[in-house]
Amino acid sequence: MILGIESTAHTLSFGLVSEEGEALPSSSDLYTPEEGGIHPREAADHHSEIAGYLLRNLMNENSLQPSDISAIAFSQGPGLGPCLRVGASIARGLSHSWDVPLVGVNHCVAHIEIGRNQTNCNDPVLLYVSGGNTQIIARRGGRYRVLGETLDIGIGNMLDKFARTHGMAFPGGPKIEVLANDWLAMNSHCTMDGISLPYAVQGMDLSFSGVMTAANQKISDGHRLEEVCWSLQEHSFAACIEVAERAMAHTGKEQLLLGGGVACNARINEMARVMCEERGATSYCPPKAFCVDNGTMIAELGRRMLSVSESTVLEDSAVSPGLRTDQTIVRWD
Ligand code: AMP
Ligand code: MG
Repeated sequence: MILGIESTAHTLSFGLVSEEGEALPSSSDLYTPEEGGIHPREAADHHSEIAGYLLRNLMNENSLQPSDISAIAFSQGPGLGPCLRVGASIARGLSHSWDVPLVGVNHCVAHIEIGRNQTNCNDPVLLYVSGGNTQIIARRGGRYRVLGETLDIGIGNMLDKFARTHGMAFPGGPKIEVLANDWLAMNSHCTMDGISLPYAVQGMDLSFSGVMTAANQKISDGHRLEEVCWSLQEHSFAACIEVAERAMAHTGKEQLLLGGGVACNARINEMARVMCEERGATSYCPPKAFCVDNGTMIAELGRRMLSVSESTVLEDSAVSPGLRTDQTIVRWD
């Protein structure tokens, strides 16, 4: 078994993948701030406090001994420095005391590899929609290239902030989905135009702070929260799907893979499916537990890297908060 440790932001998670690539459920816990957004130091404290408990749970539930673990993979970046350092320290300690290789992995690339593992798509365009990241990615010439991305905040962060402004605790995305569905149910008898909001596409890039500000203004203007949630989803998801479609047209790829926490949303999945069907392509999405940040995806990328004899020596194991998706050389199949 390869053990993976995820600690880029809110989530601390340990996960396992067998050497053949069987992915097991992760043991995870989410830091949720009492108020406001994520405080990196507090999130890191949460991770250190809960780590021993989560790891013990995972080992016990799978009846594993340390001798069953053949390598330790950890998120080396991108992410929040204090949070990354907790995961990296645990990984270095375990690798040293259990005498197994250490593998530092790129968190964004791990989202792609767990998606490929779970869905059996082989050469997709990835629409990576999470809290901190929003990118459209495709593999070409030994790297996962970023074809488009958000120029300001991640789409999940936008949903969380909008939700927080209107009294909904983190994570806001699932609560917005419920309210948007309520609005649909209330209006099932008529066609809806929705509220006009800024549309976030700029070339192949996206932006979400403008649409969030405008959505807040619509609430101040007296629109119902349910209605604004519905329109916010329609506008921001359509923008992501448009750029993903253009990426598929330019690259000629016929598979779309969704990843990141916002990929848990049924509406963005539906839009992806319709767009792909209309162009004779196929849309894939891993189970929810592997869309959100999880240790299993880190283990899976570690497994892929080990398959081409890549591991990380202690001197190169420092965390890399600004690591980019396309900085990682992809030598595995
Ligand atoms: P991640 O950063 O990949 O761990 O994903 C966390 C993000 O996913 C947060 O911003 C959540 O609000 C968002 N999220 C989770 N579930 C949903 C959902 N059903 N709809 C929209 N956003 C979601
Ligand atoms: Mg992520």
